[in-house]
Amino acid sequence: MASTDDSVRVRFAPSPTGRLHIGGLRTALYNYLFARKHDGDFVLRIEDTDRSRYVADAEEDIESALEWTNLHYDEGPEKGGDHVPYRQSERGDLYQTYAQKLIDAGAAYYAFDTEEELATMREEGGEHGSAAYDPTTRQDMRNSLTMAPDEVQEKIENGDEYVVRLKVPRRKTIRFEDEVRGTVTFESDELDDQVLLKSDGMPTYHLANIVDDHLMEISHVIRGEEWLSSTPKHVLMYEALGWEPPTFAHLPLIMSPEGGKLSKRDANRLGIPVYVQDYKKAGYEPEGLVNFLALLGWNPGTEEELFSLEEMVEAFSLDRVGASGVQFDLDKLRWVNEHYVRDLSLDELVERVRPVAEAEGYEVSDERLREICSLVQERVQVASEVVTNNRYFFEDPDEYEEAGVEKRWNEESADLLGTYADRLEEVDADAFDTDTVETVLRDLADEKDVGAGAIIHPARLAVSGRSYGPGVFGLLAAAGKQACLRRMRTAVERLG
Ligand code: GLU
Repeated sequence: MASTDDSVRVRFAPSPTGRLHIGGLRTALYNYLFARKHDGDFVLRIEDTDRSRYVADAEEDIESALEWTNLHYDEGPEKGGDHVPYRQSERGDLYQTYAQKLIDAGAAYYAFDTEEELATMREEGGEHGSAAYDPTTRQDMRNSLTMAPDEVQEKIENGDEYVVRLKVPRRKTIRFEDEVRGTVTFESDELDDQVLLKSDGMPTYHLANIVDDHLMEISHVIRGEEWLSSTPKHVLMYEALGWEPPTFAHLPLIMSPEGGKLSKRDANRLGIPVYVQDYKKAGYEPEGLVNFLALLGWNPGTEEELFSLEEMVEAFSLDRVGASGVQFDLDKLRWVNEHYVRDLSLDELVERVRPVAEAEGYEVSDERLREICSLVQERVQVASEVVTNNRYFFEDPDEYEEAGVEKRWNEESADLLGTYADRLEEVDADAFDTDTVETVLRDLADEKDVGAGAIIHPARLAVSGRSYGPGVFGLLAAAGKQACLRRMRTAVERLG
């Protein structure tokens, strides 16, 4: 019988320890694409059992990042579903039940060691110099494997503190299939006896994760490579509980453009935003960001690089996800984003740019902002650059591009520009539009018997400080009459 797609269930399972970063969003995206591609379910599960790392606003940040990028989930904390609750902290003593099952199956044990005892163990190491709690050190520790059963019982009844640890077998090869990496093997001797249940009764990530993946009927676990080394521990638990493990797919690491794993510090130094909200703040289009992230680890196998979310769903498959690290390329992101900026309606662009202008302290009417946007929409890669790369629309330039002055400003420039300013002064502020400033300029050029460029280039330099930019007449009109006169006269004075 052909397997049916409707058994696909995937989850994005972030820990709310801070704002959602770009790697997390990529994981969410690949899960989303895989779910939609196979008509499956996409679950959001909040893994919040580590209360010491819990950040109160983090879940909200995750939700809003998914919302902004249109990665809508089918089941989750705010939405409900067949497997409520979706926050692990709300799932009660469920995990203790399964910790007990693991103990009963001989795959886990109680450990009563104090902090000091653990510290000594780590310092002294075990038989083979191991500094971990593992099959070589556990025999010298205080746990239910080394203590008499009634002593263990007594301690538990006394309310003594204990943790539950995974009993990693010795010399066992643990094998699992990974959709991205093929067959992966780990030697059990490389693993430690992971704590599964902490002394406060809370599960660690490992226990909670596999229990919920099983109970929530997750078919595919798609997550970052940093979890690969946890997977053999998970496989041991699945085996001990008699559960079939999900299919795994570990996504490649995101690397710095300079090589090595992209750390927060590198990212900051290289001007790469770390958090999803920072991309939003920087003015990236959510569609552009998602498109870029799709290509950060997956390749469509064609030359095509621009994909809408629906097209990505159509084209996506795990077997085109690579195993080796992928370099983050900010220029590529900007290139992808540029296409989405071009596609915005003028109204949408104005809406994106307005908060940027305000944050920069620029006051500008909607009408004027529209005019500015229409002039530079084709010239920016990120919406915010309408403001940040074109400040001359909002403030007088404080310097002139040197090469531009060299090339475009000559002995007759001051005279021509001064006269042009005088002529423009006669134009009514209301009539100061693209056509009028052009007519005035061309008439003056004819009259002086010079090419239009003899006035155009100095005018552009004076008003924008640069030798390049959008059409000069549109630029002058958008700068407005007063700014043009003032800037032209300043340039005449400063450049002589
Ligand atoms: N809570 C883990 C995280 O923060 C989930 C890892 C997994 O998907 O298993 O990424």
